[in-house]
Amino acid sequence: MLADNLFLKIIDKRIPAKIAHEDDLCLAFHDIMPQAPVHVLIIPKKVIRTHADIAPEDQALIGHLHLIAAKLARELGLVQGYRLVINCDEHGGQTVPHLHMHLLGGRDMTWPPG
Ligand code: C5P
Repeated sequence: MLADNLFLKIIDKRIPAKIAHEDDLCLAFHDIMPQAPVHVLIIPKKVIRTHADIAPEDQALIGHLHLIAAKLARELGLVQGYRLVINCDEHGGQTVPHLHMHLLGGRDMTWPPG
């Protein structure tokens, strides 16, 4: 449900998460089922259901998420690189209806993704 999705519960601390970063605009936490040695989710506190719903007024917010991703990559030692993933809707493999960016690193990534 958009009004009370799982990630809003993590933002509100109703569900525990291992938090890597928090500020007024976003929260970053370690994925509960990591797909790489480092797997962090970066989410806006604003409710945006999916990538396709990003609006012009979200431009600075989306830029902020990227800056935080780069900061976390540095802090988490991803000196050899990393991958950012945003899954959008059914074909994109999105399972939680709250925009989120995956920061994956600590191993070689393959291409194309599955
Ligand atoms: O892009 P997608 O919607 O598939 O990603 C959702 C992510 O949220 C998954 O990687 C899943 O492991 C993660 N998750 C989590 N904590 C939860 C529920 C899901 O980290 N409580």
